[in-house]
Amino acid sequence: LVIPDFRSFCSHLDQIFEECTDITSGNVASYIPELSKVSPNFWGMSVCTVDGQRYSKGDSTEPFTLQSCSKPLTYGLALQQLGSEKVHQFVGQEPSGEVFNALILDKHDMPHNPMINPGAIIMCGLLKSLVYENHAIDDILAEIMKTVKNLAANEYVGFSNEVYESEKATGFRNCAIAYLMMEKKCFPPSITVDDVLTLYYKSCSILGNCETLSVIAATLANGGVCPLTNKMVLRQDVVQNMLSLMQSCGMYDYSGHFAFQIGLPAKSGVSGGMMLVVPSVMGIGLWSPPLDRLGNSCRCLYFCERLLDFYCMHPYARL
Ligand code: GLN
Repeated sequence: LVIPDFRSFCSHLDQIFEECTDITSGNVASYIPELSKVSPNFWGMSVCTVDGQRYSKGDSTEPFTLQSCSKPLTYGLALQQLGSEKVHQFVGQEPSGEVFNALILDKHDMPHNPMINPGAIIMCGLLKSLVYENHAIDDILAEIMKTVKNLAANEYVGFSNEVYESEKATGFRNCAIAYLMMEKKCFPPSITVDDVLTLYYKSCSILGNCETLSVIAATLANGGVCPLTNKMVLRQDVVQNMLSLMQSCGMYDYSGHFAFQIGLPAKSGVSGGMMLVVPSVMGIGLWSPPLDRLGNSCRCLYFCERLLDFYCMHPYARL
């Protein structure tokens, strides 16, 4: 077993989980009513090891939209279908140093990386134009959701039409980003702004819960083979690329700090969800809606800090 004394590990998780309830700072995202209506008190945690040991606490089965946690997943699907070389003709690998929805491209007029809005919108363009040509947007969404389900071993995966409708109705910034990228010829051929944004908003509106995120993260920790089904969902080289960019770019413009302090690949979303990957060991799914000023969930960040106080998981802590 990768964690031989799982019971004592879980009792430490219990302790950390309880400590986190003292964290009451942060604000629930309010740019659309569907997110602002969510109770700030939800708090859930799930763990899944690469050999399938599982533990959950709190609101671990309560659904929330994946939001930016979908970004590594659409990136992974594009990599799986097109290969790294092709994908990176359209998107870079550098942290942007800016907020996730900044109207900004890199010095080659490409999005900096696939973990922020411009890059994730480009991934949707690649899926539409190069992978699933002539497919309706909803069929492409179904392909994305199929991959998410396979990564999550059929843990809950759903879709929120309410969140999608609001994102679409209020997404002026994303619209500006897509038009800027149209002007700079960032997209593959025959893409429309409407199609690409529809797919982007729909992928942000995929629903999951902490259990879902923990199994997805565990599949990534296990090199693309889901520990619960033993199915290879993504190739090892795809997962390597995904984890590298989650490590350098996954936590918005806190990514450098997070990589310094925690050193593990992670991705957060504006609904307060987060996945943390401990390579070769486990995946952790966390959810607490109140966010700090950079857009990361306050409790989720504190959880990671405390976990690292208990266990030496930083990759350079044991050299
Ligand atoms: N859906 C939102 C947007 O595109 C938020 C994405 C996120 O989680 N940061 O702006």
